[in-house]
Amino acid sequence: MSNDAFGFDTLAIHAGQDPDPATGAVVPPIYATSTYKQDGVGGLRGGYEYSRSANPTRSALESCLAALEGGAAALAFASGLAAEDCLLRTICRPGDHVLIPDDAYGGTYRLFAQVLAGWGVDFTPVHLTDLAAVGGALRPNTRLIWCETPTNPFLRIADVAGLASIAHEASALLAVDNTFASPYLQQPLLLGADAVVHSTTKYLGGHSDVIGGAVVVADASLGARLAVLQNSTGGVAGPFDSWLVLRGIRTLGVRMDRHCANAERVAALLDSHPAVREVLYPGLPGHAGHELAGKQMRGYGGMVSFRLHGGEAAALDVCNRAQVFTLAESLGGVESLIEHPGRMTHASVVGSPLEVPGDLVRLSVGIEAVEDLLADLVQALR
Ligand code: PLP
Repeated sequence: MSNDAFGFDTLAIHAGQDPDPATGAVVPPIYATSTYKQDGVGGLRGGYEYSRSANPTRSALESCLAALEGGAAALAFASGLAAEDCLLRTICRPGDHVLIPDDAYGGTYRLFAQVLAGWGVDFTPVHLTDLAAVGGALRPNTRLIWCETPTNPFLRIADVAGLASIAHEASALLAVDNTFASPYLQQPLLLGADAVVHSTTKYLGGHSDVIGGAVVVADASLGARLAVLQNSTGGVAGPFDSWLVLRGIRTLGVRMDRHCANAERVAALLDSHPAVREVLYPGLPGHAGHELAGKQMRGYGGMVSFRLHGGEAAALDVCNRAQVFTLAESLGGVESLIEHPGRMTHASVVGSPLEVPGDLVRLSVGIEAVEDLLADLVQALR
């Protein structure tokens, strides 16, 4: 089917997921096979040869992701960080320079600081919401701007179209980590980005039962170069993991609508609570990125961070007292999670310029009954 004619929710259910030609199975099968019989040497059926290079279940997921992001090609990986690593080492060479958000996801920062720096790729953390600062941080060897929006854990909003113009004027590329928004809320390639990265572990999978990643690119030739590195290094998504992500994607739209609605209620409650010093949620009119988020996103997302008057001790207390919100890392599943970024997801940036304050708590607001979520926060904040 031609993707142009269909809406997002139709693509989520059908793109890459035509009924199985052999059996008519409505759901793409899990092709649990490492290899494929050849009809005479080189006689490949459907192009499949060996499952590191390509597997039909993974191909179904990749076609769907490309359709949802409006990209020319997509590649599915064993984790979000495997996807990031493959993209970065496809685009960058030793001697290149990259701008990254000064509140990048801790694992992304670690990849730059502990892996790519040793490979000779230099990087500068910069406040991506400040386009003048971004322009000022460019160097002649800047090859890439790496963007997250909304950011993890401060929920800042960066102007994707503005960053794409700055990058392209400098003959650099723009990559956007779209994990927090998902393609349902935001499609960075359509705003001018060259590549999108996902931890499919999060909203795309949606059920906290799989680790996965993806890269989607605007230009098929970049996709072909990524495929060479992916096949050469082998960090691919397995067939069962691909199938789980694909199953999650089918309900992405309805889940995201509920995540957004519940998060708006949670943010409003926190905003009026005397123990809370500041709520970081782009859906609140006072948030610095509220207007921009309204323009480039379809909703404000399911992530809410907040800071407490009582400092780190109060933040740890809230995390420990929550009951419906499960104390755990990760995000984007149907269940609500609470965490302390300073000691959990962002422990890897302690002592770096990206260190997060101890009074910060991050919520991944799930799709449970919102009254139960609000009541849980009220008792945890007592
Ligand atoms: N990008 C963001 C924004 C994340 O939050 C994460 C993980 O938390 C990743 C990338 C890395 O993904 P994964 O854990 O699937 O490797």
